[in-house]
Amino acid sequence: MNLLEVRNLNTSFHIGVGTVQAVRNISFHVKQGESVGIVGESGSGKSVTMLSVMGLLPEYADIAADSILFDGREMTKLSKKALRAMHGSEIGMIFQDPMTSLNPLFNVESQLTEPLRIHRHMDKHHARQRALELLRQVEIPNPEARLKQYPHELSGGLRQRVMIATAIACGPKMVIADEPTTALDVTIQAQILDLLQNLKKETQTSIIMITHDLGVIASMCSRILVMYGGTICEQGDAREIFYDPKHPYTWGLLNSIPKVQSRPGEKLIPIKGTPPDMLKPPEGCPFSPRCRCCMPVCRMYMPPTVALSDTHSVACHLMHPNAPKITREG
Ligand code: SF4
Repeated sequence: MNLLEVRNLNTSFHIGVGTVQAVRNISFHVKQGESVGIVGESGSGKSVTMLSVMGLLPEYADIAADSILFDGREMTKLSKKALRAMHGSEIGMIFQDPMTSLNPLFNVESQLTEPLRIHRHMDKHHARQRALELLRQVEIPNPEARLKQYPHELSGGLRQRVMIATAIACGPKMVIADEPTTALDVTIQAQILDLLQNLKKETQTSIIMITHDLGVIASMCSRILVMYGGTICEQGDAREIFYDPKHPYTWGLLNSIPKVQSRPGEKLIPIKGTPPDMLKPPEGCPFSPRCRCCMPVCRMYMPPTVALSDTHSVACHLMHPNAPKITREG
Protein backbone atom coordinates (compact mmCIF):
# COMPACT_ATOMS: atom_id res chain seq x y z
CA MET A 1 0.00 0.00 0.00
CA ASN A 2 1.28 3.48 -0.88
CA LEU A 3 1.83 5.71 2.12
CA LEU A 4 2.89 8.70 0.01
CA GLU A 5 1.90 9.34 -3.57
CA VAL A 6 3.08 12.48 -5.37
CA ARG A 7 1.75 13.36 -8.82
CA ASN A 8 3.20 16.07 -11.06
CA LEU A 9 4.96 18.19 -8.46
CA ASN A 10 6.43 21.50 -9.64
CA THR A 11 8.23 23.90 -7.34
CA SER A 12 9.72 27.23 -8.30
CA PHE A 13 11.17 30.16 -6.39
CA HIS A 14 10.52 33.71 -7.47
CA ILE A 15 13.63 35.72 -6.79
CA GLY A 16 14.71 39.20 -7.93
CA VAL A 17 16.45 38.08 -11.11
CA GLY A 18 13.87 35.55 -12.27
CA THR A 19 12.29 32.20 -11.43
CA VAL A 20 14.28 29.17 -10.28
CA GLN A 21 12.55 26.01 -11.52
CA ALA A 22 13.78 23.76 -8.74
CA VAL A 23 11.46 20.76 -9.25
CA ARG A 24 9.76 19.96 -12.55
CA ASN A 25 6.90 17.54 -13.12
CA ILE A 26 7.93 14.79 -10.78
CA SER A 27 5.83 11.85 -9.66
CA PHE A 28 6.75 9.09 -7.23
CA HIS A 29 5.39 6.99 -4.39
CA VAL A 30 6.60 5.45 -1.15
CA LYS A 31 5.05 2.27 0.22
CA GLN A 32 4.30 1.55 3.87
CA GLY A 33 7.49 0.30 5.56
CA GLU A 34 9.66 0.95 2.49
CA SER A 35 12.97 2.82 2.40
CA VAL A 36 13.42 4.97 -0.68
CA GLY A 37 16.59 6.84 -1.58
CA ILE A 38 16.63 10.12 -3.49
CA VAL A 39 20.07 10.65 -4.96
CA GLY A 40 21.63 13.42 -7.05
CA GLU A 41 24.13 16.26 -6.97
CA SER A 42 23.61 19.45 -4.95
CA GLY A 43 20.92 21.55 -6.58
CA SER A 44 19.22 18.59 -8.27
CA GLY A 45 15.99 19.25 -6.35
CA LYS A 46 16.16 16.38 -3.80
CA SER A 47 15.59 18.38 -0.63
CA VAL A 48 13.22 20.87 -2.27
CA THR A 49 11.04 17.92 -3.35
CA MET A 50 10.55 16.73 0.20
CA LEU A 51 10.26 20.22 1.69
CA SER A 52 7.53 20.88 -0.91
CA VAL A 53 5.72 17.70 0.14
CA MET A 54 5.93 18.81 3.78
CA GLY A 55 4.86 22.41 2.97
CA LEU A 56 8.00 23.68 4.66
CA LEU A 57 9.21 26.12 2.00
CA PRO A 58 9.19 29.92 2.37
CA GLU A 59 6.36 32.12 1.10
CA TYR A 60 8.15 33.00 -2.15
CA ALA A 61 8.11 29.33 -3.21
CA ASP A 62 5.40 28.36 -5.64
CA ILE A 63 4.36 24.71 -5.15
CA ALA A 64 1.92 23.11 -7.58
CA ALA A 65 0.97 19.45 -7.74
CA ASP A 66 -1.88 17.43 -9.20
CA SER A 67 -1.90 15.50 -5.95
CA ILE A 68 0.15 14.78 -2.83
CA LEU A 69 -1.57 11.96 -0.98
CA PHE A 70 -0.22 10.98 2.42
CA ASP A 71 -1.89 8.10 4.21
CA GLY A 72 -5.04 8.70 2.16
CA ARG A 73 -5.17 12.46 2.84
CA GLU A 74 -4.72 15.10 0.13
CA MET A 75 -1.96 17.31 1.55
CA THR A 76 -2.40 20.06 -1.07
CA LYS A 77 -5.80 20.80 0.48
CA LEU A 78 -4.64 20.92 4.10
CA SER A 79 -4.32 24.23 5.94
CA LYS A 80 -0.94 25.37 7.26
CA LYS A 81 -2.13 24.49 10.78
CA ALA A 82 -3.12 20.96 9.75
CA LEU A 83 0.22 20.49 7.95
CA ARG A 84 2.09 21.70 11.03
CA ALA A 85 0.22 19.15 13.14
CA MET A 86 1.46 16.40 10.83
CA HIS A 87 5.10 17.43 11.22
CA GLY A 88 6.62 15.60 14.12
CA SER A 89 3.54 13.46 14.73
CA GLU A 90 3.05 11.62 11.43
CA ILE A 91 6.14 12.68 9.49
CA GLY A 92 9.51 13.07 11.23
CA MET A 93 12.52 14.86 9.76
CA ILE A 94 16.21 14.28 10.37
CA PHE A 95 18.50 17.01 9.04
CA GLN A 96 22.15 16.97 8.03
CA ASP A 97 23.44 19.14 10.84
CA PRO A 98 21.69 18.59 14.18
CA MET A 99 23.48 21.67 15.55
CA THR A 100 21.29 23.86 13.35
CA SER A 101 18.07 21.93 13.99
CA LEU A 102 18.39 21.25 17.73
CA ASN A 103 17.75 24.38 19.77
CA PRO A 104 20.99 25.35 21.60
CA LEU A 105 18.98 27.06 24.38
CA PHE A 106 17.09 23.96 25.52
CA ASN A 107 18.36 20.74 27.02
CA VAL A 108 17.72 17.31 25.50
CA GLU A 109 14.76 16.65 27.83
CA SER A 110 12.90 19.80 26.73
CA GLN A 111 13.48 19.08 23.05
CA LEU A 112 12.44 15.45 23.29
CA THR A 113 9.39 15.96 25.50
CA GLU A 114 7.98 18.97 23.59
CA PRO A 115 6.57 16.99 20.62
CA LEU A 116 5.19 14.37 23.03
CA ARG A 117 3.38 17.01 25.08
CA ILE A 118 2.08 18.87 22.00
CA HIS A 119 1.11 15.97 19.73
CA ARG A 120 0.49 13.15 22.21
CA HIS A 121 -0.77 15.33 25.08
CA MET A 122 1.46 13.51 27.58
CA ASP A 123 1.97 14.93 31.06
CA LYS A 124 5.48 15.85 32.20
CA HIS A 125 6.15 12.52 33.95
CA HIS A 126 5.04 10.28 31.08
CA ALA A 127 6.81 12.45 28.50
CA ARG A 128 10.05 12.12 30.50
CA GLN A 129 9.65 8.33 30.70
CA ARG A 130 9.10 8.18 26.94
CA ALA A 131 12.12 10.45 26.36
CA LEU A 132 14.30 8.03 28.36
CA GLU A 133 12.89 5.11 26.38
CA LEU A 134 13.71 6.93 23.11
CA LEU A 135 17.30 7.64 24.16
CA ARG A 136 17.72 3.94 24.94
CA GLN A 137 16.16 3.04 21.59
CA VAL A 138 18.75 5.17 19.75
CA GLU A 139 21.45 3.54 21.89
CA ILE A 140 22.55 6.59 23.86
CA PRO A 141 24.39 5.44 26.99
CA ASN A 142 23.48 6.88 30.40
CA PRO A 143 20.20 8.45 29.19
CA GLU A 144 19.28 10.03 32.57
CA ALA A 145 22.41 12.20 32.46
CA ARG A 146 22.01 12.98 28.75
CA LEU A 147 18.51 14.37 29.31
CA LYS A 148 20.01 17.25 31.29
CA GLN A 149 22.64 18.11 28.69
CA TYR A 150 22.52 20.82 26.00
CA PRO A 151 23.35 20.17 22.33
CA HIS A 152 26.82 21.78 22.60
CA GLU A 153 27.74 19.27 25.33
CA LEU A 154 27.20 16.29 23.01
CA SER A 155 29.43 14.84 20.28
CA GLY A 156 28.28 14.99 16.61
CA GLY A 157 27.18 11.34 16.68
CA LEU A 158 25.20 11.78 19.91
CA ARG A 159 23.53 14.93 18.59
CA GLN A 160 22.44 13.04 15.47
CA ARG A 161 21.03 10.25 17.69
CA VAL A 162 19.08 12.84 19.70
CA MET A 163 17.79 14.29 16.40
CA ILE A 164 16.64 10.79 15.37
CA ALA A 165 15.00 10.26 18.78
CA THR A 166 13.13 13.58 18.32
CA ALA A 167 12.04 12.61 14.81
CA ILE A 168 10.61 9.26 15.94
CA ALA A 169 9.28 10.44 19.32
CA CYS A 170 5.61 10.40 18.31
CA GLY A 171 5.84 7.21 16.26
CA PRO A 172 5.61 8.81 12.77
CA LYS A 173 4.53 6.74 9.79
CA MET A 174 7.33 8.24 7.67
CA VAL A 175 10.77 9.67 8.43
CA ILE A 176 12.58 11.92 5.95
CA ALA A 177 16.33 11.84 6.50
CA ASP A 178 18.11 14.65 4.60
CA GLU A 179 21.83 13.84 4.31
CA PRO A 180 21.73 12.45 7.88
CA THR A 181 25.32 11.22 7.91
CA THR A 182 27.17 13.78 5.77
CA ALA A 183 28.57 15.71 8.75
CA LEU A 184 29.75 12.55 10.56
CA ASP A 185 32.93 10.50 10.31
CA VAL A 186 32.76 7.09 8.62
CA THR A 187 32.41 4.87 11.70
CA ILE A 188 29.67 7.01 13.23
CA GLN A 189 28.03 7.15 9.79
CA ALA A 190 27.80 3.35 9.74
CA GLN A 191 26.34 3.28 13.27
CA ILE A 192 23.66 5.86 12.38
CA LEU A 193 22.70 3.93 9.23
CA ASP A 194 22.45 0.70 11.27
CA LEU A 195 20.27 2.49 13.75
CA LEU A 196 17.91 3.73 11.04
CA GLN A 197 17.75 0.24 9.54
CA ASN A 198 16.84 -1.26 12.92
CA LEU A 199 14.19 1.37 13.54
CA LYS A 200 12.63 0.60 10.19
CA LYS A 201 12.60 -3.12 10.96
CA GLU A 202 11.16 -2.68 14.44
CA THR A 203 8.54 -0.04 13.70
CA GLN A 204 7.74 -0.50 9.97
CA THR A 205 8.33 3.24 9.50
CA SER A 206 8.83 4.31 5.87
CA ILE A 207 12.13 6.11 5.35
CA ILE A 208 13.03 8.58 2.61
CA MET A 209 16.79 9.01 2.50
CA ILE A 210 18.03 12.10 0.66
CA THR A 211 21.70 11.92 -0.18
CA HIS A 212 24.37 12.54 -2.81
CA ASP A 213 26.16 9.39 -1.59
CA LEU A 214 25.26 6.18 -3.47
CA GLY A 215 27.08 4.18 -0.77
CA VAL A 216 24.54 5.32 1.83
CA ILE A 217 21.69 4.46 -0.53
CA ALA A 218 23.13 0.99 -1.25
CA SER A 219 23.18 0.05 2.42
CA MET A 220 19.74 1.44 3.25
CA CYS A 221 17.27 1.63 0.42
CA SER A 222 15.26 -0.89 -1.55
CA ARG A 223 14.16 1.67 -4.18
CA ILE A 224 16.01 4.63 -5.64
CA LEU A 225 15.02 7.85 -7.42
CA VAL A 226 17.86 9.52 -9.34
CA MET A 227 17.30 13.28 -9.69
CA TYR A 228 18.95 15.71 -12.08
CA GLY A 229 18.03 19.31 -12.91
CA GLY A 230 14.81 19.16 -10.88
CA THR A 231 13.54 16.04 -12.64
CA ILE A 232 13.59 12.30 -11.89
CA CYS A 233 15.80 10.92 -14.64
CA GLU A 234 15.69 7.27 -13.51
CA GLN A 235 13.96 5.28 -10.82
CA GLY A 236 14.03 1.63 -9.97
CA ASP A 237 14.69 -0.90 -7.26
CA ALA A 238 18.24 -1.02 -5.90
CA ARG A 239 19.19 -3.99 -8.12
CA GLU A 240 18.01 -2.21 -11.28
CA ILE A 241 19.84 1.01 -10.46
CA PHE A 242 23.11 -0.62 -9.36
CA TYR A 243 23.28 -3.54 -11.83
CA ASP A 244 21.22 -2.41 -14.83
CA PRO A 245 21.26 1.40 -14.91
CA LYS A 246 20.04 2.95 -18.16
CA HIS A 247 20.44 6.71 -17.81
CA PRO A 248 23.80 8.30 -18.69
CA TYR A 249 23.66 10.41 -15.51
CA THR A 250 23.19 7.28 -13.36
CA TRP A 251 26.17 5.72 -15.22
CA GLY A 252 28.17 8.82 -14.34
CA LEU A 253 27.20 8.64 -10.67
CA LEU A 254 28.12 4.96 -10.47
CA ASN A 255 31.44 5.48 -12.31
CA SER A 256 32.42 8.21 -9.89
CA ILE A 257 32.32 6.05 -6.74
CA PRO A 258 35.10 3.63 -5.68
CA LYS A 259 34.47 -0.08 -6.30
CA VAL A 260 35.60 -3.02 -4.18
CA GLN A 261 37.34 -4.53 -7.23
CA SER A 262 39.18 -1.25 -8.16
CA ARG A 263 42.93 -1.67 -8.68
CA PRO A 264 45.30 0.43 -6.53
CA GLY A 265 45.85 3.82 -8.22
CA GLU A 266 42.82 3.38 -10.49
CA LYS A 267 41.22 6.77 -11.02
CA LEU A 268 37.54 7.54 -10.49
CA ILE A 269 35.74 8.98 -13.49
CA PRO A 270 34.08 12.30 -12.62
CA ILE A 271 31.05 13.66 -14.49
CA LYS A 272 32.42 16.53 -16.53
CA GLY A 273 30.80 19.97 -16.34
CA THR A 274 28.55 21.48 -13.70
CA PRO A 275 24.86 21.11 -12.81
CA PRO A 276 22.50 23.37 -14.79
CA ASP A 277 21.54 26.87 -13.72
CA MET A 278 17.90 26.36 -12.79
CA LEU A 279 17.18 30.02 -13.47
CA LYS A 280 17.72 29.12 -17.12
CA PRO A 281 17.71 25.33 -17.47
CA PRO A 282 18.81 24.03 -20.89
CA GLU A 283 16.16 23.35 -23.52
CA GLY A 284 15.30 19.66 -23.78
CA CYS A 285 17.10 17.19 -21.54
CA PRO A 286 18.67 18.96 -18.53
CA PHE A 287 21.69 16.62 -18.69
CA SER A 288 22.37 17.32 -22.40
CA PRO A 289 25.29 19.80 -21.90
CA ARG A 290 27.23 17.13 -19.93
CA CYS A 291 26.07 13.95 -21.61
CA ARG A 292 28.52 11.96 -23.75
CA CYS A 293 25.58 10.37 -25.58
CA CYS A 294 23.80 13.65 -26.40
CA MET A 295 21.93 13.65 -29.73
CA PRO A 296 20.38 16.65 -31.54
CA VAL A 297 16.90 15.68 -30.28
CA CYS A 298 18.14 15.88 -26.68
CA ARG A 299 18.77 19.63 -27.01
CA MET A 300 15.26 20.27 -28.29
CA TYR A 301 12.84 18.03 -26.42
CA MET A 302 12.55 16.86 -22.83
CA PRO A 303 12.76 13.04 -22.96
CA PRO A 304 9.58 11.19 -22.00
CA THR A 305 9.67 8.75 -19.09
CA VAL A 306 9.69 5.17 -20.37
CA ALA A 307 8.71 2.25 -18.12
CA LEU A 308 11.10 -0.70 -18.49
CA SER A 309 9.49 -2.81 -15.77
CA ASP A 310 6.91 -2.36 -13.00
CA THR A 311 9.59 -0.66 -10.93
CA HIS A 312 12.17 0.67 -13.41
CA SER A 313 11.62 3.83 -15.50
CA VAL A 314 13.99 6.12 -17.38
CA ALA A 315 13.67 9.57 -18.94
CA CYS A 316 16.18 9.49 -21.79
CA HIS A 317 15.91 9.63 -25.59
CA LEU A 318 18.21 6.58 -25.73
CA MET A 319 15.16 4.52 -24.74
CA HIS A 320 13.57 5.25 -28.12
CA PRO A 321 13.59 2.08 -30.28
CA ASN A 322 15.41 3.96 -33.09
CA ALA A 323 18.08 5.50 -30.84
CA PRO A 324 21.70 4.27 -31.11
CA LYS A 325 22.50 1.36 -28.80
CA ILE A 326 24.90 2.93 -26.32
CA THR A 327 25.82 1.19 -23.08
CA ARG A 328 27.46 2.26 -19.83
CA GLU A 329 30.77 0.92 -21.10
CA GLY A 330 30.65 2.84 -24.41
FE1 SF4 B 1 21.91 12.11 -22.72
FE2 SF4 B 1 20.03 12.66 -24.50
FE3 SF4 B 1 19.61 10.83 -22.65
FE4 SF4 B 1 19.68 13.38 -21.99
S1 SF4 B 1 18.19 12.40 -23.28
S2 SF4 B 1 20.67 11.73 -20.92
S3 SF4 B 1 21.27 14.11 -23.35
S4 SF4 B 1 21.12 10.75 -24.27
